[in-house]
Amino acid sequence: MSMEQRIIVACKNPQCAYMISLPYSIPLEKTEFQPPMPMEIFPLRVVCPKCEHWYAYSAVEAEWSVFPILSQREDKLCPTSWILEVACEAPQCESLTRWHIRDDEGLASTDAALRLFHAKPQVVCEVGHPLLGTTRLRAIHPNSLRPRSE
Ligand SMILES: [Zn+2]
Ligand SMILES: [Zn+2]
Repeated sequence: MSMEQRIIVACKNPQCAYMISLPYSIPLEKTEFQPPMPMEIFPLRVVCPKCEHWYAYSAVEAEWSVFPILSQREDKLCPTSWILEVACEAPQCESLTRWHIRDDEGLASTDAALRLFHAKPQVVCEVGHPLLGTTRLRAIHPNSLRPRSE
């Protein structure tokens, strides 16, 4: 079975520490060694699928881990991620944040958005305004994203 390296983070909730795999991967045969982290994806905002807490992760908190590459069909049945881009609605705020929501169940984008807005604590923009509305939200559902550095 062919393998790939995929970026993972460990949930920062000490009661949880669940390993969350993210939709950034490189086929293993392309890179024998640990590839560099694609810095443009950080800070990574991730909602934990187990405890529902969100945290922002820096590059030193992420690592590459080896996983089997799944066929197109299996990929549909297996965990992937939603990426939700949310523009802040506060006046004069230009913040656009990207959020990673693991999807084990084939969620609709509206369900992924609900999961984001129910995450603990309240999700906020880069400067701390609460993100409440879904009106300025864009959902991306990649099977896998290739880091730009590849
Ligand atoms: Zn967690
Ligand atoms: Zn804001």
